Amino acid sequence: MPSITSRKTEQSRRLQQRAESMIPGGVNSPVRAFRSVGGDPPFIVRGKGSHIWDADQNEFIDYIGSWGPLILGHADPAVLDAIVGAACNGTSFGASTPSEADLAELVLCAFPHLEKVRFVSSGTEATMSAIRLARAYTKRKYIVKFEGCYHGHADALLVKAGSGVATLGIPGSAGVPEEFTMFTLALPFNNLSAVEHAFHKFKHQIACVIVEPVVGNMGCVPAADDYLVGLRLITERERSVLIFDEVMTGFRVAFGGAQELYNIKPDLTTMGKIIGGGLPVGAYGGPKEIMDLVAPLGPMYQAGTLSGNPLAMAAGCAMLTQLRDRKNDIYPRLEKLSGELVAGVASAAKDAGVALCHNRVGSMFTWFFQNGPVTDWDSASKSNTEAFGKLFRSMLDQGIYLPPSQYEAAFLGAAHTEEDVQRTITVAKEAFAAVRQ
Ligand SMILES: *Cc1c(COP(=O)(O)O)cnc(C)c1O
Repeated sequence: MPSITSRKTEQSRRLQQRAESMIPGGVNSPVRAFRSVGGDPPFIVRGKGSHIWDADQNEFIDYIGSWGPLILGHADPAVLDAIVGAACNGTSFGASTPSEADLAELVLCAFPHLEKVRFVSSGTEATMSAIRLARAYTKRKYIVKFEGCYHGHADALLVKAGSGVATLGIPGSAGVPEEFTMFTLALPFNNLSAVEHAFHKFKHQIACVIVEPVVGNMGCVPAADDYLVGLRLITERERSVLIFDEVMTGFRVAFGGAQELYNIKPDLTTMGKIIGGGLPVGAYGGPKEIMDLVAPLGPMYQAGTLSGNPLAMAAGCAMLTQLRDRKNDIYPRLEKLSGELVAGVASAAKDAGVALCHNRVGSMFTWFFQNGPVTDWDSASKSNTEAFGKLFRSMLDQGIYLPPSQYEAAFLGAAHTEEDVQRTITVAKEAFAAVRQ
């Protein structure tokens, strides 16, 4: 591996200033601006495997992977071939193409609880459509979500949301009338009695419960034993729709997502990120009985000019085919390497006397700057974000690209090597010394 030197920032800073004059904050998604950690965000010009390069020619080991999608690493040859092949035949038709059913077949084979699936262009679209569908199916108005879970930026879901909302420390969003969120009940995560209480108070009025089965958007926070089973039992009893938002966990914690890992059957599932192989794709699916309410078969309207785009479908197919064919190698290897990395960094913190705890499910993980345990938003929010910022900057300067927020999960992918992991642990050892100062 070429040596990674302390980073230069001149070009990235210039590009940031240029972007800021035209784009709010210089970014098209808030967390990219590094507001919670400070410093100059690197402008990325190239990626290959587990590494990326910025405009100043710094090289980084990447633990973001485009926030989850790139489980096979950057510029995967099969994904690139598929995109180029599709592009040569035209980029979009606004008409059906064969690749849509190809991707649907791969998704339905990975998620056997789904009978039908509809493709959209982002995770946000997937979750907002699933909510609309749950309301259409149950003819009820209220929805339950959990504090610290992020389900995209639709109005009704921007209540106590994690991700960038948590990173910026704002409770919701300006511009969302309270009338638009009056049917959203935000409950503490990992707390079944709060759910029982809500169903008691709003008897026969709750259309659905939407949950990240492993939360990634307040940092990585797994569900407690029996929590997801409990949600399943309550929603079944109350004839309410259980939505697993697997936009992050789908094809990540297992090929068949968290529902495979924990063996639980939700009613509706939302997907995004990995499903598009790095291109914009989202999806929602479930049993025919519910999915056939979607237009043109039923009265629930949802549409998209670029939905099922042939380039995006081709990328998704190339991604999911490889994951399917290599799943018995890929997922155990991700588990092993991620375990080594997370434990190695945690023990470096311990040696340096830095208070740190960690959560990990497969290749999704977070080091929280506190003693822990972190089980919900209240406990996650006790983290020392200033110490996190110090570690983050110090790691970045030494060529390790972590998520620029305490409240975003990090990811390891199939392209990461043992060498990447050892290098990261070595850098962390030095970085913790900086945190303590
Ligand atoms: C990223 C994410 C979303 C939103 O997806 P976008 O493609 O960013 O709109 C929704 N739900 C979860 C769980 C996510 O991690």
